[in-house]
Amino acid sequence: LVSRKKKAEDTVININGETVGAGNPSFIFGPCAVESQDQVSKVAEAISGKGLRMIRGGAYKPRTSPYDFQGLGLEGLKMLKKAADQYNLAVVSEIVTPSHLEEALDYVDVVQVGARNMQNFELLKAVGQIDKPVLLKRGMSATVDEFINAAEYIIASGNDQIILCERGIRTYEKATRNTLDISAVPILKQETHLPVFVDVTHSTGRRDLLLPAAKAAIAIGADGVMAEVHPDPAVALSDAQQQMDLNQFDEYYDALMKFMKQY
Ligand code: PEP
Ligand code: MN
Repeated sequence: LVSRKKKAEDTVININGETVGAGNPSFIFGPCAVESQDQVSKVAEAISGKGLRMIRGGAYKPRTSPYDFQGLGLEGLKMLKKAADQYNLAVVSEIVTPSHLEEALDYVDVVQVGARNMQNFELLKAVGQIDKPVLLKRGMSATVDEFINAAEYIIASGNDQIILCERGIRTYEKATRNTLDISAVPILKQETHLPVFVDVTHSTGRRDLLLPAAKAAIAIGADGVMAEVHPDPAVALSDAQQQMDLNQFDEYYDALMKFMKQY
């Protein structure tokens, strides 16, 4: 059902007045994790200052170590929603288990399924039954075919509002956190009718690569870019090395807009 052969025209998803997948790239910025009301409010203010319509932030964090910050859970979602409402933004946040889904839906506009859960089939079936958009991230070692099949689980359960998100895959290369598989973007666009985003933060893991990676994503035809922004990355409780601060975000977004005007 996600195949272009089944449906030739692009799927367009309306999120808070923003048409995702209609040609103009969309942007999802926000902190790695929700840490406090003040933190998310500051980021929301900066995002809305750019005229953008979405904010991200993890409340259920799938961390490698059980001793690392696990996220604020439902309290975090409430903080993010409050900040989003204040600045008229839609909330994008990861849900890690079907059992959190119902309570989370009061606070989340776009449900993110993270890389670690791309093949959590019960979660895929559960988000397939909601009537909100799903942002599905590519598994860290998933092939394009496995990625497309994961999206198929969601659409087969009844939800066709799916955004695919390339976020880098695991290779032997150590210069970046993951290897951004940029060619996956046009392949996914050819094989499916779904919008395709690129997460430049988790793919590169390097602040100095966030801009060139986003330019590459837009140039190759991505429908949107995701990147992490935190008021004070040095003290962030997760992904401290790769989040932009508010000044960097300001410069970054302006540079991207300038780049896009060339097209
Ligand atoms: C995230 O976007 O917060 C995240 C954890 O990314 P990924 O699932 O791609 O690792
Ligand atoms: Mn992160």
